Amino acid sequence: MGFVDTIAAKRDGRSNSKEQLIELAQGAASGTIPDYQLSAWLMAAYLKGLTPQETADLTMAMAESGERLDLTGLPKPWLDKHSTGGVGDKTTLVVLPILAACGVTMVKMSGRGLGITGGTIDKLESIPGFRTDLSPEEMVDQAKRIGIALSGQTPRLAPADRALYALRDVTGTVASIPLITASILSKKIAGGADTVVLDVKCGSGAFMKTLPEAQTLARSLVDTGKLCGLKVSAVITDMDQPLGMAVGNLIEVQEALDALSKPQYELTSGTQRFLDLSLSLAGHALEVVGSGDRRSAEKAMESGRAFEKATQWIEAQGGKVEAVRALPQPKSISVLVHKSGARYVSRVDAQTVGECLLMLGGGRQQKTDEIDHVAGIQTKVEVGDLVQKGHVLFSVISSKPVTTEILHRLQAAVEFQDNPVEPVKTLLEVVN
Ligand code: URA
Repeated sequence: MGFVDTIAAKRDGRSNSKEQLIELAQGAASGTIPDYQLSAWLMAAYLKGLTPQETADLTMAMAESGERLDLTGLPKPWLDKHSTGGVGDKTTLVVLPILAACGVTMVKMSGRGLGITGGTIDKLESIPGFRTDLSPEEMVDQAKRIGIALSGQTPRLAPADRALYALRDVTGTVASIPLITASILSKKIAGGADTVVLDVKCGSGAFMKTLPEAQTLARSLVDTGKLCGLKVSAVITDMDQPLGMAVGNLIEVQEALDALSKPQYELTSGTQRFLDLSLSLAGHALEVVGSGDRRSAEKAMESGRAFEKATQWIEAQGGKVEAVRALPQPKSISVLVHKSGARYVSRVDAQTVGECLLMLGGGRQQKTDEIDHVAGIQTKVEVGDLVQKGHVLFSVISSKPVTTEILHRLQAAVEFQDNPVEPVKTLLEVVN
């Protein structure tokens, strides 16, 4: 019966064997198992779940469905950092240079944004000339020279994930903890990682909307990593309000470079909050690989070494920092202000800001959509701020006229109350 048995076992709530899961991953990668059978298995797995051992077996089978990067010879420690994605989440752009400046070798594959969660590859492609299609050989060579290499997902690594993810996207089976776990970790293992720090985002602008959901995903990632021989530490961080001030591809790269290069007192408080989280993540990663702590990350910033690393990295991949700073003139900038009297900000809804960026063309609704790298939303308020009438809430940067629907939605994204509100904690929990 072949693969039909694998589907039927899962449908009936029984476990699939390691051999069955290897057959599945190989068949998905080579195209020898038809999409209708893979889709049936995905739905059965979504509904019945996978045991921890099945999740680990699937992860390894997917990791081994193509080539694996061999990092042998690169200076240790090696680390991969991954975020489950959020609105304004540009931490990779700051954390990678800090860690490389602290002597950690960072080889990383990143994805494009889909829906409201932006993707690092789209952000980096807003830098003129920046290459995101490094071959596995180029990645290893660049990491040897400067300690950082980041590329888009190559079809040669974990091809089973590519095939399965495309099917999950159109069969309503994305939101399954074991399938998300296997998808994320198989790419890390194929990319040669031995240690991974995961930033599991939690809140309206993330996949995981609540803390219990984020905890479940973090626990699954950490435990599956262990079963696969990978050291994984997860950090749960807030994604209820946008991270930092900038939401949009080019303006997020600019904000990241500002955070790396400007003295703290010159940064807006939104950018300071983003930098603070980046330093916490970098400090945590340094502790995990035994190469330092948050103070080491701060020193790499203060000494200018982290910014130097960022400059080297951008140049190694064909871009220029000065080109990022020369802001192209947008067609329109609309400013939204607070219309009533003095009040405290109690919510800035990340999901709405992410959806408005999509409506401006700054993100993708379909995989094939072209995106406008210049479109962006600057969030000028944070939870806890006391705002007066006329205080700017958002400025909207667009290549096309901004619709009243976008302006109304953004206005409604900010909620107020009369009593003081505590600022939101950015780092919520560490799961080891
Ligand atoms: N990111 C991934 O790489 N895979 C998923 O399934 C979800 C998020």
